[in-house]
Amino acid sequence: MLPPSKSNTIDFDAAKLQRLGFSAKRTPNLHPLSLNQLRQQLNLQLQTSLELERILDVFFQEVQRIIPLGALAYQQPASDLRLELGERATHSASYHLNHDGDYLGELIFRRNQRFTDDELGQLESLLVCLLFPLRNALLYRSALQSALRDPLTGTGNRIAMDQALQREVDLARRNLQPLSLLMLDIDHFKRINDSHGHGVGDDVLKAVAATLKGQLRNVDMVFRFGGEEFLILLSNTNREAAGMIGERLRHSVLNLQCAVQDQPLELSISLGCATLLPGESADSLLRRADNALYVAKREGRNRLTMAG
Ligand code: GH3
Ligand code: MG
Ligand code: MG
Repeated sequence: MLPPSKSNTIDFDAAKLQRLGFSAKRTPNLHPLSLNQLRQQLNLQLQTSLELERILDVFFQEVQRIIPLGALAYQQPASDLRLELGERATHSASYHLNHDGDYLGELIFRRNQRFTDDELGQLESLLVCLLFPLRNALLYRSALQSALRDPLTGTGNRIAMDQALQREVDLARRNLQPLSLLMLDIDHFKRINDSHGHGVGDDVLKAVAATLKGQLRNVDMVFRFGGEEFLILLSNTNREAAGMIGERLRHSVLNLQCAVQDQPLELSISLGCATLLPGESADSLLRRADNALYVAKREGRNRLTMAG
């Protein structure tokens, strides 16, 4: 049995893992087990969570009770998932997991010695225990994601926005970092619907959202606030930098080449920008960005206004 390997996770949030009961320093139970005992144990343990990270961690730790491993990697590009536990090593055994016609991703076991045929047989037998829990965790993950996403534009929805805004305000306060917010609204959007129909309006919304995401480092911080209004959270970004980003977004929408029946559509956005003040609440920050947007509209649209 290998000593517990140093955990080197890529996507893992350490705080979350701690809350889930995971600890990099966890010492594995040293009682030797038969393959069948381990299968039974795995069947029980893997039922205890729907969290993908947790399930893979339990599997990684438990498998090492009979097969020494250096690392376990998991990837499923379709879901943009890539996790790695343990440390890189020279030898690997890789499995593409399928269940009932669904592709569940690729699992790669790594270590510095070759795997014997016997061990590969055992790994395959243990992998069977992982299939249902993994499928359920993927379904759970995708249900959670769709509950937080606006289906038309793929941006975060209001629920996601409320959570992220509060989290970012708390983080900014704790780490004494700046936090800025851009509230933006498409100008004269009603005219587009009225002149070209709702379908074209929807396409414009998608195109604007894609442009915004394309211009930003962290695409997870774009939210659809309402009909044709979006909110962008800029963590660790001060007032000046946020103003520059806002201007960049405004230009990128102005330069968007949208056309209806070969006639170009003129598009612009107005923006309000606010930066968190010491001791300010999330609601107040939001209100100040909204007020700044209102001023940008009143002063002629296609412009950015900084909150006072
Ligand atoms: P302003 O420059 O003042 O923002 O003018 P506006 O026309 O953009 O603003 P207004 O609030 O008058 O109109 C917003 C329009 O957005 C009205 C509504 O029908 C439309 N809208 C809201 N949600 C959707 C949607 O999901 N799809 C489409 N196609 N239109 C939507
Ligand atoms: Mg509008
Ligand atoms: Mg509006």
